[in-house]
Amino acid sequence: MKNVAIAGATGAVGIEFLKLMESRNFPVKNLKLLASKKSVGKKLEFCGEKLIVEELTEKSFQGVDLAFFSAGKGRSKEFVPYAIDSGSLVIDNSSAFRMDPNVPLIVPEINKEMAFKHNGIIANPNCSTIQMVVALNPLHKAAKITRVVVSTYQATSGAGSKGMQELVDQTKAWVNNEPIKVQSFPTQIAFNLFPHVDIFLDNGYTREEMKMVNETRKIMNSPKMKISATCVRVPILRAHSEAIWIETEKKLTAVNAREILCKSPGIIVKDDPTDGGYPTPWEADETLDTFVGRIREDLSHPKGLAFWVVADQLYKGAALNSLQIAEVLVSGT
Ligand code: NAP
Repeated sequence: MKNVAIAGATGAVGIEFLKLMESRNFPVKNLKLLASKKSVGKKLEFCGEKLIVEELTEKSFQGVDLAFFSAGKGRSKEFVPYAIDSGSLVIDNSSAFRMDPNVPLIVPEINKEMAFKHNGIIANPNCSTIQMVVALNPLHKAAKITRVVVSTYQATSGAGSKGMQELVDQTKAWVNNEPIKVQSFPTQIAFNLFPHVDIFLDNGYTREEMKMVNETRKIMNSPKMKISATCVRVPILRAHSEAIWIETEKKLTAVNAREILCKSPGIIVKDDPTDGGYPTPWEADETLDTFVGRIREDLSHPKGLAFWVVADQLYKGAALNSLQIAEVLVSGT
């Protein structure tokens, strides 16, 4: 049994930790819920008990064995060192430490053995990256992927609870013929979409796109894999979708790929060329697996394959993946 803390417990990801720890019977002795000053005193339910939210401070981690951080990069940079000094093992959902060579970046279906090589911090990858690598890795093992081109269709909850609320508020305003307010997104999201997730970088890509490039290479231990991403925010509340094209060294037919993916951990193949015979974000909401469909050979390349991947990014892209890492550590395997 572990003394556990969640930094960012009131956020879009934080509340999913509570649901998943309860449903998966994670061995919690005491649970500490941490957030900003404004949430102090708020009550959140866990296993039938109402727990009171405390302020995240330097002293929050005394006696804590395992600290899940999900309060943004700035808070991770500031408070993770205190958690480590207090003897906690940190599993961090932010991007603060992901590319640090001393910090393992883990998706258990791919590199769970790295969980035992930590120096106090384990990083949980970016949400769009996690669902992509879950699907890429078995195909890479079978046929060596040389190039990946991906376009994402990312839900508003990827930008936190404020993002989800903004979609709801703008939709209501539109229905009621009221002015649409843009607050947390760069432009209107209701009845719209935009190719702009996170900030623009000097190379013309966004930071989200470069996370998909760099984190995929690190997790899959393939520093030279050619990857290019276009990340798009769409008016969906929850679950990200991705259209992925790969080129492989060895030819993979659609039939081969389907067989491989069907046998791979964490994946459900839904791939019938009929109405509704493909995964959608609506049905992936609050599910644990990564769904793959539309598997087909690329007409434009002899060793190319195209497919469609959907997963609940608050679960597999964040809280569930972090918890699965913790479960690996608890079970020792
Ligand atoms: P969110 O809904 O905005 O929640 C942010 C959480 O951080 C809230 O609990 C908030 O507490 C807390 N927080 C903010 N400022 C704080 C401060 N100064 N001191 C203490 N706590 C503070 O965001 P989210 O989507 O859950 O994302 C949290 C982290 O997970 C981010 O690093 C994000 O990059 C990462 N992540 C998110 C997703 C996703 O799909 N959303 C996926 C993967 C990773 P209050 O409620 O008190 O403000």
